[in-house]
Amino acid sequence: MNNFSLENKTAYVTGGAKGIGKTVALGLAGNGADVAIVDIDMDAASEVVKEIEAMGRRSMAISCDVTSADDVETMVNRIVSEWGKLDIAFNNAGICLNVPSEDLTYDQWKKVIDINLNGVFLTSQAAGRVMIKQKGGVIINTASMSGHIVNVPQPQSAYNASKAAVIMLTKSLAVEWVNHNVRVNSISPGYIATEMTLSAPEEWKSRWTDLTPAGRMGKPEELISAILYLANDASSYTTGMDLVVDGAFTCI
Ligand code: NAP
Repeated sequence: MNNFSLENKTAYVTGGAKGIGKTVALGLAGNGADVAIVDIDMDAASEVVKEIEAMGRRSMAISCDVTSADDVETMVNRIVSEWGKLDIAFNNAGICLNVPSEDLTYDQWKKVIDINLNGVFLTSQAAGRVMIKQKGGVIINTASMSGHIVNVPQPQSAYNASKAAVIMLTKSLAVEWVNHNVRVNSISPGYIATEMTLSAPEEWKSRWTDLTPAGRMGKPEELISAILYLANDASSYTTGMDLVVDGAFTCI
């Protein structure tokens, strides 16, 4: 028996057009799920849809800004009306701004909190409403090791605060919805090689790998099995957990 099979499951991935979201979307489809790609970059999202369809799974690109309650509600309704149900919600879209706190404008602060925290709330709420009604589902939120530690040398107070809040929001929803058979967990990646990190200055990147006991950044592919575990009935008693995948960064 393949405990990790996602045959007959439907999923969406926010921020699914690129980076971690794209890789995990392909991983979910590779294990049998139909996966909607939810993003603001429709060109890149459509390319991921083609890759998933080539694997023999259903997919669709949905334009949705996770900070818009209307966009989020329309996105979830479209999946339910076209596919009949929503089993797995991967709320993953996020941004990082590296600005010293004394210079960070209030608009910059609000932008990070809006996408990283409010976006996770809005998507979790919309998915949770559907899942409560259908008496089951799995929500996985992308937090970060930055919700546990303060990264150096780069300043990113809004990002760190948003990710710590995502971890606590996840626990709160897990407790509220446990009796509805809706599980809510988060993952906290360490440094993962995507556009978000690879565009950083070389001095930062070499400091990050020096500080990581594993001695390197993770690859997005190395998050797939963590998500498969949380997405699947294999983790039926796991809810409210933050799964840290960081090459032991937060151990020291
Ligand atoms: P990425 O490569 O920049 O991908 C993020 C995706 O989210 C992009 O396609 C982006 O579109 C989309 N997006 C941004 N704002 C959005 C919005 N308002 N609504 C919908 N989609 C939006 O980043 P990543 O590295 O894969 O990061 C994915 C998640 O992992 C984020 O939550 C990040 O904080 C978290 N994370 C990353 C790392 C890391 O080391 N990479 C570590 C820990 C946690 P555009 O590109 O068009 O803006």
